[in-house]
Amino acid sequence: PELFAPERSNSKGFDLRHEPTLEEVEAARAPFATHEWAARPLLAGQARPQPPEPVANPANPSDQPGTVATASKDDIETALAAATAWDAPRATRAEVLNRVADLYEENFGEIFALLAREAGKTQLDAVAELREAVDFLRYYAANAPERDPVGVFTCISPWNFPLAIFTGQISAALAAGNAVLSKPAEQTPLIAHFAVSLMHKAGVPTSALQLLPGAGDVGAALTSDARIGGVAFTGSTETALKIRSAMARHMAPGAPLIAETGGLNAMIVDSTALPEQAVQAIVESAFQSAGQRCSALRCLYVQEDIAESFTEMLTGAMDALCIGDPWHLSTDCGPVIDDEAHRGIFAHIQQARADGRLMHEIATPNTGTFIAPTLIRVNGIADMKREIFGPVLHLATFGSDELDEVIDAINATGYGLTFGLMTRIDDRVQHVTERVEAGNHYVNRNQIGAIVGSQPFGGEGLSGTGPKAGGPNYLARFSAHVAPAAGS
Ligand code: GLU
Repeated sequence: PELFAPERSNSKGFDLRHEPTLEEVEAARAPFATHEWAARPLLAGQARPQPPEPVANPANPSDQPGTVATASKDDIETALAAATAWDAPRATRAEVLNRVADLYEENFGEIFALLAREAGKTQLDAVAELREAVDFLRYYAANAPERDPVGVFTCISPWNFPLAIFTGQISAALAAGNAVLSKPAEQTPLIAHFAVSLMHKAGVPTSALQLLPGAGDVGAALTSDARIGGVAFTGSTETALKIRSAMARHMAPGAPLIAETGGLNAMIVDSTALPEQAVQAIVESAFQSAGQRCSALRCLYVQEDIAESFTEMLTGAMDALCIGDPWHLSTDCGPVIDDEAHRGIFAHIQQARADGRLMHEIATPNTGTFIAPTLIRVNGIADMKREIFGPVLHLATFGSDELDEVIDAINATGYGLTFGLMTRIDDRVQHVTERVEAGNHYVNRNQIGAIVGSQPFGGEGLSGTGPKAGGPNYLARFSAHVAPAAGS
């Protein structure tokens, strides 16, 4: 029998506190400081895209990282007609995906520049994102299933992890032998184009992987065609529900939808928590990546006996954050992705200001789409009607006998993605984590940055369909259902 035992370990990444490494990163990024990329459809056939349009740098309106020519109706048809499941042996698929990981690592300078200039990612975020993308490739390669693929998979990815989630969806579908039609987020086509070029260079056939940049209309066409066998989607709960109904109308009844959607994530800090540790975890969970993670902390519950001193420490830590252009290494918090995001988050903060609930905000640069890390008072998570996808933290207090009410309120949101708990009472850890319904529980640490292979990531309820990405069950959803043998 064929030997299949690929080696795998997570990527080492880059330690930016190490001076020579920092210099190496700077030098590799420098040639791409003013480079202009050009994204277009990558098809197994002739592309006839729309005329190119500029792509924005969210931190800097005078920078243009490149242009995108989006997919036309003809391009979508060309892609659908050419898509062919990747029928190479799984050892070959694994080898090619590992080669993609190597190419990603070799091209770190260009990737970091793209992540900063197109997606507003700080250096720390960019390092983590490249690591995660490489980890997904190697993890799915090492676990490539033997079963038959579903067929053609549509992968629709978000702008907040334009490399990691983009690569995670595609590499899972490819590891299982599917053909992929990829529709990257409208805001981040350049990095998607670069990544798919590397995948083709590594040996993924163009008929097995085609890139169709575009907006919602391209996504809609790629989720409502009988030739599609399944959809992997990360984005809003609202869009996931639309995709589900389009799939129900056009695709086979068993066609899988793997959706990872929003969250209204909470953390509970009780009076036994170590305040320094809790403050650091909160600042990272709420404000790193400018709060643009679906795992990010949105509603913090602090036990009332410590609330005053704790809030003072927290606002002090917020004041120490450096907001600015993510290209600079000193930046902790970059811009939000675009004007539309900025308007929505800004309106939410203005409403809180008008209601007298604004507790703290810090100064922001006045170019680009920056939102200052902000703290808003709420009575509880029930006051939050929707996910605010930015650096805005809501704070509520609770009495020592109200813990179960807090848990009920968290569960009542219907979301269930991440949850954080800060306590030094062992029994409480068990009591609370057994009751809070969330995909990922984190105790005495931050609640972002799940690690592929050791912390599978995904939610329940309104937060997603499961199975969790980067975990043992994910690839099974990209394989055809195996009918039980007769008589079994
Ligand atoms: N996996 C990421 C994390 O743990 C979040 C993914 C997302 O925001 O979609 O922080």
